[in-house]
Parts: sequence; C-alpha cells; structure tokens
Amino acid sequence: MVSIRGNSAKGRERRISIAVDLDEVTADTVAKRLQRYRADYGVELSRKDIQGKQIRDAVPSNHREAVEACLDEPGFSRDIPVMQNAQRILEGLSRRFEIFIATSAMDHPVSLYDRYLWLQEHLPFLTDRSYVFCGSKSILKADFLIDDNPRNLEIFSGTGILFTAHHNVYETRFKRVDSWLEVGAYFDSLV
Ligand SMILES: [Mg+2]
Repeated sequence: MVSIRGNSAKGRERRISIAVDLDEVTADTVAKRLQRYRADYGVELSRKDIQGKQIRDAVPSNHREAVEACLDEPGFSRDIPVMQNAQRILEGLSRRFEIFIATSAMDHPVSLYDRYLWLQEHLPFLTDRSYVFCGSKSILKADFLIDDNPRNLEIFSGTGILFTAHHNVYETRFKRVDSWLEVGAYFDSLV
C-alpha cells in the first residue's frame, strides 16, 4: 500500500489517490469516433489526420456539427473500446493506490448512464464509489490526475499527468505519459 501521512486530527495515514479521466485515457473514444466517421461518411480518417487538432477541425466544415452531435446520442458511450492495457494496469494500481475515475460527464449528460454501465463492465475491480461524474475537475482533491485535457490539469491542485492524445501532442507544460505501460512504470517508480 502506498500511503502518506494524512492531515486529519488523528494524523492517520491514507492511501495516495489517483484520479483518472475516462475519455481518451481509460476509454479509447477516438477509436469509436473514427469508426463512426467512417460509417457515416465512407471516408477513412486516420489518427495521423487528426494529429495536433480536434476532430471537428480535421473534417470538412459541413461535417463538423454531426461529428460533435453523435457524442450526445444515447448509447454512443456504451460500447467504446477500452484503452490498451488500461484494465490490467489500473487493477494493479488499485491494490496500492486509491483510484477514482473522474469524467467531466456534464459535457454530454445523456452519456451518464452509459458511462456508469461501461465502468461496471470494464473495470469490475472498482466499486461505483470510485466514480466521479463531475462538472469542473477543479473540485478534485486527489494527489494525481491523469487526463488528456490540459485545461483539466491547469485547474487541478495536485500533480497533473498528461496522457498523450491526438489533440495534445504539442503541449509541454505537464509530465507526459504515452501509454498505460508508462502510467504503470511512473507509479512503480514512486514506491
Ligand atoms: Mg479525456
């Protein structure tokens, strides 16, 4: 168990806590979005095509609205693939750290129940007490936050770790990890 001295009156030790983002960190949302784009338009959009930009900025202007609107469809968030190695590494970390899955679910409120079911299916070693469906991530008081969105790391009070995604490749302000294997190695190095 990895713990630090708490600041409670009794000074009890507590486990170090890690908040983990869902989209593009635990869930490979981009894979689903590219698959959906191919189904809707018959056009192959690759990860290279969207490197350094948002998907909406990589498609023709008359497709922009629809590629964002599908995120608000009931069911869209239910069958997103799990990010490679996320389950195995997170399960290992959950034995040593307190893990929370923190998602800015208010961006797409229709996805709330889909996300709940997704977490139950894919991360069964976590209980639903570990789910944080939030608005602003500034409310999180975990020790670490792993997130692909630099704006969430900017407002986080603990140590931010940037998980590489197509849209953040030029960001340089944060500790960066490219994969879940790197996440595992980073936290192994703390022990
Ligand atoms: Mg994200």
